[in-house]
Amino acid sequence: MAELFDRLPFENLYWNQAETLTQEECRTLQTRQLRRTVERVRELPLYRSFFEENPLQDEDFQAPEDVRRLPFTTLTDLRAQFPNAHWTVPRHEIARVQTQDGFLTAFTRHDLQIQADLSARYLYAVGIRSNQMVQVSHAFGRAGLAFALQSGIDCIGAASIPAVNQIVPTNSAMITGYRTGQTANEKMEETIDALCALNADAICADAEFVLAILTLAQKLERNLPIRNVCVPATSTGIALRYPIQKDFPVKVWLHWEHPAFFGAGLAGECCRQDGLHIQEDRFLFECIHPETLQPLPDGEPGELVVTDLAHEAQSLLRFRTGIIGVFNATPCPCGRTTRRVQILGENDA
Ligand SMILES: [Zn+2]
Repeated sequence: MAELFDRLPFENLYWNQAETLTQEECRTLQTRQLRRTVERVRELPLYRSFFEENPLQDEDFQAPEDVRRLPFTTLTDLRAQFPNAHWTVPRHEIARVQTQDGFLTAFTRHDLQIQADLSARYLYAVGIRSNQMVQVSHAFGRAGLAFALQSGIDCIGAASIPAVNQIVPTNSAMITGYRTGQTANEKMEETIDALCALNADAICADAEFVLAILTLAQKLERNLPIRNVCVPATSTGIALRYPIQKDFPVKVWLHWEHPAFFGAGLAGECCRQDGLHIQEDRFLFECIHPETLQPLPDGEPGELVVTDLAHEAQSLLRFRTGIIGVFNATPCPCGRTTRRVQILGENDA
């Protein structure tokens, strides 16, 4: 763990220098890692028949776009060979298996470092620093996400307040409560007491929970200290972020996570709140037409497809996330050089 936990942030603006690679540096890195990924997965039950019919070699991958020579992977493919057809290391090398949303995601020790680094990039970008205190309030059902965020907080050196057994309100009850002022419960009051007593700076939680707790605190006339709120870029998170920012003195920052990939850290917002920076040194991102499956250029919305480049314990090729988004390749004023993605919703087809 030493090399990631012990080093200082890059120029105090970005957590990792990888966030500012030139396009050429990034493409070279991606191509090299793509070749390694292909070697890792060649014998897996999930891909063996493809590579028997298509014996691709290193020279077939000269650019990141050559990923298009590889097959797509779907949730159905994974479920057909549940649980470990995509694991690439022997059992004794696995350090953790995270379960979330029907996925079993394996990690080696090195993968756990990468997970922490990816989460730290996002948390640092939204202003979390080592002198702050952050509550992680994701529920047991999203334990993978909670672990990933927790490791990012540890990586930065901030203090965490894990609360994974937090009650997450059902949408209807709490949203109704927000509008009518009818809901409150003892568990949430306890949380408000804790956040105030600890002078917590930030909270990582689902948007519904954030809205409920802010609403309850306001009703109780408690002055919550939190100023930064980190929420997943789900349809609810996207829908609620601006109303929450409008009604309460907090900034809401979106991050995109998928349980098949490290639990968190595929992409996250920066101070501009204008799209989520994708982590292109760790993943290959594509945008495809959801029906023709043909690649789409930046600026055109389509289904987001992700290929693992750096995950040791498992590797997914061209995993169809079912998420609709659009890439933006224009330079971001924050200085990060990675493309940004705007998440638009889920592909219901
Ligand atoms: Zn930016």
